[in-house]
Amino acid sequence: VITHGPLGAAPLVGVRDRPPVGRLVFYADAVWAVTAVEALDLDDDDRDRWLAEGMPDPGTWWAAPYRVDVKHIGGRRPHDDDDGEPVDEGSISVHTRHIHSPDFRWWVYPESGRWPRCSCCGDPMPCRADREDRYVDAQLAELRRLESVMPGCCWGCREPITRRQHSVVYPGDNLDLPGGPEVAFHTRRGCGWRADQYELRWLAADPSRDRILTWPKCAGRLVVHGDGTSECFGGDVDCRGHETHDHADATACYEQTHGCPKDCARDGHPGTWRPRRRRRTTPGGAR
Ligand SMILES: [Zn+2]
Ligand SMILES: [Zn+2]
Ligand SMILES: [Zn+2]
Ligand SMILES: [Zn+2]
Repeated sequence: VITHGPLGAAPLVGVRDRPPVGRLVFYADAVWAVTAVEALDLDDDDRDRWLAEGMPDPGTWWAAPYRVDVKHIGGRRPHDDDDGEPVDEGSISVHTRHIHSPDFRWWVYPESGRWPRCSCCGDPMPCRADREDRYVDAQLAELRRLESVMPGCCWGCREPITRRQHSVVYPGDNLDLPGGPEVAFHTRRGCGWRADQYELRWLAADPSRDRILTWPKCAGRLVVHGDGTSECFGGDVDCRGHETHDHADATACYEQTHGCPKDCARDGHPGTWRPRRRRRTTPGGAR
């Protein structure tokens, strides 16, 4: 997967932009010259998406499918499936689902026609070997970073977690460093997103685990009662208050203009924070 694109090429600005005839594009570890761009008939999937978009004029529809005819210029040359001969010319079909995909883009080399070629394999840079090297380097750097986390420290920022700081502990096997210590994070801004990411993998590793931080957001209004139970109004159909979702809009029941139908007392009301899960929290106390 190319995340930053081939060297020396630039992505076309708009998703609806098609590569200009005559220019060189990057595709499948090779450089190709665009010889023609033609409209394609809608396939079944294109048609479904076209219907869903309200049947726009196919001639001007931004996500209309098209075909790009190309001629091989350099780099890895695919072989024909039928006779095994190297392919000189081909065409790339672009369908609506590709255009809809956030990963979809054309990488186009400058009009000069110059493109950087790997001296080892002849592929456009960065070539596969180069990308693999970078990937391994990044993995090793990450492993070294994790090995340097001291016990009792945060797996996000590597700083100690003090008793007064909000934090979260993920019991069980260390998913990042096999055999490593128990994983904990600060829940503060800089570390919380790493905790969220870790939690998703931690939940996936054992479906019997309960969420700690990664509750889906519900746009409804949460009303919390004196006994800690909660109700959601106007939110997701499957929302069961604190048990299933987080709410930006939350209120203690007695604060409603009409008071609480259950007559909960103001004294001893737990407030609107999600109840602590005692089994899961740290000595410092995650919320
Ligand atoms: Zn190479
Ligand atoms: Zn931290
Ligand atoms: Zn109440
Ligand atoms: Zn809700």
